[in-house]
Amino acid sequence: AKEKEHNSYKFFNAMMHTQMLNRLTLETDLYKALEQEEFIIHYQPVFDLIDDALVGFEALVRWQHPTHGLVFPDTFIPIAEDTRLITRLDNWVFRQACQQMAHWQQNFPNCSDLKISINLSAQDLQTYDLIDNIDTILTQTGLEGRSIIIEITESMLIEDIEKTVDILAQIESRNIQISIDDFGTGYSSLNYLHRLPVNNLKIDRSFVTQIQEENRNCQVVNTIIALSSQLELTSVAEGIERPQQLQKLKQLGCRFGQGYLFSKPLSPADIETNFLSR
Ligand code: C2E
Ligand code: CA
Ligand code: CA
Ligand code: CA
Repeated sequence: AKEKEHNSYKFFNAMMHTQMLNRLTLETDLYKALEQEEFIIHYQPVFDLIDDALVGFEALVRWQHPTHGLVFPDTFIPIAEDTRLITRLDNWVFRQACQQMAHWQQNFPNCSDLKISINLSAQDLQTYDLIDNIDTILTQTGLEGRSIIIEITESMLIEDIEKTVDILAQIESRNIQISIDDFGTGYSSLNYLHRLPVNNLKIDRSFVTQIQEENRNCQVVNTIIALSSQLELTSVAEGIERPQQLQKLKQLGCRFGQGYLFSKPLSPADIETNFLSR
């Protein structure tokens, strides 16, 4: 038994070591990646569930790592947050996504009313240059604020409520919409919702996944949608994979949706061939 214990300890240690090495490597690589712009953005279409019309895209960053290949955000966003590189990364994504949307609006006639959704991290809201950066990007790309939706999570709202209210008000005054991502999974910010210039609630994939299997989740989704309409917000369901989920969401009155059932996040070239017409 002692031998076994020893072995499992050794194994565990080796595993931790590998994980730490990976993390350390990724950390150093991340600095270089920002310099060398190794990031790309994939775009996931968002639809109006009433008439199936395309309403916009969510920008989702990926890292084209020189040796590891395509790395997904769940792996490197936490590292970028810990190392405080996230604000630089998100600023890059913001600029790139606005540039792409401005390009699509100029080149495809069916694009003028489409919106680009961009994810922000908590640290971005704590940065004083956020508004300056946004203004610079709007000026340089020529994209109007009304074409942009910023996605933030609930937990970001309660960190420093006064400051958050102030920043969100500045964002709102640029006609940029604000969406609460992963709604229902974090700390409840129900107390603050009415104080904030929020336009939209995103129903987390975890609720959508279980929508037919568990009655309880159906009630959660139902409650979020009811809350949205009470507060005069729209709702977007994420992670719709099956026709039954779509049916149920429509039945419950959810207005917008995205998910593999419609499309995975795609490269700009694939978005153009599949969703935009000249
Ligand atoms: P999120 O904002 O909740 O984005 C939705 C995630 O669900 C995306 O994962 C998307 O690819 C995935 N997804 C969409 N439809 C389906 C579906 O039908 N089924 C399943 N199983 N998954 C679906 P992704 O691209 O890996 O991004 C993960 C998270 O990383 C995002 O979650 C977001 O929190 C964060 N993230 C992505 N891009 C950025 C960024 O530019 N800045 C920041 N700060 N965070 C980002
Ligand atoms: Ca999001
Ligand atoms: Ca989400
Ligand atoms: Ca999510």
